[in-house]
Amino acid sequence: MATPLRVLIHGGGIGGLTLATALGRRGHTVEVAELRDELEALGVGIIQPSNALHVMREIGVLDDCLKAGFEWEVLTIADPAGNVLAEIPQPRMGDAPSNNGIPRPALAQVLGAAATAAGATIRFGVTITELTDGGEGVDVTLSDGSAARWDLVVGFDGIGSPLRTRLYGDRYVPEYTGFANWRVTVPRQEHVRGVVMGTAGQAAKALLTPITEELMYLGAVFAEPEDFRPDPEKAHEQLKERLPMFSGPVAEALAAVTGPEAVVYSRISQVTVEEPWHVGRVVLAGDAAHASTPHIAQGAAMAVEDALVLAESLDAEADVAAALDAWEARRRPRAMWVQAMSRAVLKQETGGETTPEEDELLKVGIPGAAHVLVQPY
Ligand SMILES: Cc1cc2nc3c(=O)[nH]c(=O)nc-3n(C[C@H](O)[C@H](O)[C@H](O)COP(=O)(O)OP(=O)(O)OC[C@H]3O[C@@H](n4cnc5c(N)ncnc54)[C@H](O)[C@@H]3O)c2cc1C
Repeated sequence: MATPLRVLIHGGGIGGLTLATALGRRGHTVEVAELRDELEALGVGIIQPSNALHVMREIGVLDDCLKAGFEWEVLTIADPAGNVLAEIPQPRMGDAPSNNGIPRPALAQVLGAAATAAGATIRFGVTITELTDGGEGVDVTLSDGSAARWDLVVGFDGIGSPLRTRLYGDRYVPEYTGFANWRVTVPRQEHVRGVVMGTAGQAAKALLTPITEELMYLGAVFAEPEDFRPDPEKAHEQLKERLPMFSGPVAEALAAVTGPEAVVYSRISQVTVEEPWHVGRVVLAGDAAHASTPHIAQGAAMAVEDALVLAESLDAEADVAAALDAWEARRRPRAMWVQAMSRAVLKQETGGETTPEEDELLKVGIPGAAHVLVQPY
């Protein structure tokens, strides 16, 4: 489409801000409606694998991400005492590393600045209260009372997506996997120059992920009842109780956690919208459409790929309807592959029963998945 569009993005998280940047740079009029009062994110890190870094390059923020993060050099597998079992080199590919660890707040700042520089407006503390798709445009009222007509509304509003409920009722709600992720940011140990996976077999795995020269985060997944929440007074002790088998770098990292404040607890859920991801001129993307478990570190990567491909599809197709069809045809198979692979790895790592289809996927393995995902999308 040669004509600039008016696009409202519901949700200014990783995917929404990436889309705002990609569209703004193409000359579209873009507003982001974000519920939170400012650009903020959980105080832990995130891994940007090579496909996510490719999108960052395409929207002009690769260098900023690398500057704010920590480029992996090696993936280390160690026993509970920290003895190295394997070191897998992580070679750079052209101008980017295989993976970049980055603090989530830093990534939010990089993407927010890029979206604004691209001409997008980010409106904080607002959400959609009314939405009517009249076919020729979508009339939207926001919670601050303002109203406008948009050519396209994109729901990048996360796994709990209110826009998904508005479009599909309660047909697609997040399903809890029975597992939760504990994360805490600690000082980086000098030898942690890529993910260090401390493994005690099926009993527990703990990842140390560098996110800056100074910082890394410790992450571990455990089966937890759906209604469990860490005790706000002693979450750090509860985390330590779950990792008694580790005596090496994991124990050293835990020793640095002296209070409950820094412990971040996230239940792991997934959701898939089985119907077309758009209804008229309203479309869901990222976690809102296809949230997966974090086991191959690809959720945000899929969200940013969704964003870039949507911008490209709007460039290439004659109208919005054709662009949304073309976009979903490109995105659904890949996002579903990532979701299935992530779930299979969760089961494998936690001793769950896998299906024959999951066994086939697991033959690809995590290095194989990286190979698949580095291919053009
Ligand atoms: C434990 C864990 C570890 C992970 N690690 C990785 C990793 O290493 N690498 C990776 O690629 N992915 C990882 N992920 C997945 C990744 O965090 C998500 O896939 C990614 O954030 C999805 O981006 P999004 O833009 O779709 O949604 P989000 O980033 O969740 O953004 C949604 C935005 O919508 C806003 N919003 C919500 N409701 C409203 C509303 N009513 N009105 C307006 N705005 C609203 C929210 O405030 C938020 O800003 C991990 C996930 C978990 C749970």
